[in-house]
Amino acid sequence: MALLSPGTPADLATSTAAAFRHAYGAEPAAVGRAPGRVNLIGEHTDYNAGTCLPVALAHATYAAVSPRSDNLVRVRSAQADDEWQGEGIGPGEVTGWASYAAGVAWALREAGVEVPGLDVCVDSTVPLGAGLSSSAALECSVAVAIAHLAGLDDSETQRRALVEACMRAETEVAGAPTGGMDQTVAMFAQPAAALLIDFLDHTTRAVPLSLGDAGLAVLVVDTRVSHALVDGGYASRRTDCETACRELGVPSLREATLDRVESLADSRIRRRARHVVTEIGRVAGTVAAIERADWRTVGQLFVASHTSMRDDFEISCPELDAAVEAALGAGAVGARMTGGGFGGSAVALVPEDVLDTAMSTVDTAFDTRGFRRPTFLRAEPSAAANLC
Ligand code: ADP
Ligand code: MG
Repeated sequence: MALLSPGTPADLATSTAAAFRHAYGAEPAAVGRAPGRVNLIGEHTDYNAGTCLPVALAHATYAAVSPRSDNLVRVRSAQADDEWQGEGIGPGEVTGWASYAAGVAWALREAGVEVPGLDVCVDSTVPLGAGLSSSAALECSVAVAIAHLAGLDDSETQRRALVEACMRAETEVAGAPTGGMDQTVAMFAQPAAALLIDFLDHTTRAVPLSLGDAGLAVLVVDTRVSHALVDGGYASRRTDCETACRELGVPSLREATLDRVESLADSRIRRRARHVVTEIGRVAGTVAAIERADWRTVGQLFVASHTSMRDDFEISCPELDAAVEAALGAGAVGARMTGGGFGGSAVALVPEDVLDTAMSTVDTAFDTRGFRRPTFLRAEPSAAANLC
């Protein structure tokens, strides 16, 4: 069973620059790289002022960019058939995949950065639409390249501003609401660590992962299904959380206690809020367990998180449940669906010596149930976005 390769950064930077040359007949002025991510735990917590614990993948998006002397913006991608070009790059002016790239240029201009017309050429090893944040990888790869062209320094403050611009691009130009986890980890991840993000105060902290010492691998199963039509499920979960806050009289579910949540009258709202409050607790438990190398507890928290998302938040699906069940059956220490839900990927903590068995067991489980064959990749905790 094959693992999807992340490629070699130097090779991908070179081939993306070559594609740029082929498309536009000149060398790019800058090549940006930004990673995809997998969230270890803490789902639907970002818009509830909660916490989450993603890791940046070695799988990444590369954006070759040059300024133009006019106002035109042209964008191409090895993952898309169509080139897009235009001068209007704001909300309502760009559609489709190009909105994620051109939208970043718009949002940076809105933030007062002088962004000229641009030629952009993109390539990526992050699977698209798999819940591994190819969208933020695209935005952030373009953002770091533009920041370099604009002469911005590479400080923490500046990276925060890039996160904001990428979030605005996704929310306002691409029209996909996003809570900020994806862009934050793409801009602030550290190698060999997960990133604890606290959305109450927008602080981050690296949590070193000594996976190798423990003989463990982080296996990602891309189910290759998406049951959500234009993120309707995401929006309705967000609304349910807002309703719970209103009923409880708290500014966010971060401020709600489990006792109060259990007093909510409506069963659906109660279960939604229960997931968020218990999930925030599980993030803290996971960080503490990782810090004392207690992987058994981490695994148990993964399983509890999956159950909560399946039963209380109701964002799992048969493929994700099958992936989790099969991985656990094959000896995974823990497994859970990851990302927004209704498809996408599952993440499993797997002893190295059963990695192959875990993959073939999941593959067989999918085959037996008549599901589309899943794909696999290994999450190797990687560095944040940078200039190549
Ligand atoms: P995810 O971020 O989990 O991969 P999203 O639905 O948020 O899923 O974003 C996927 C979309 O982002 C794609 O459908 C496409 O429009 C755009 N996208 C991401 N990466 C690329 C790329 N390399 N080339 C073209 N479009 C991309
Ligand atoms: Mg996305």
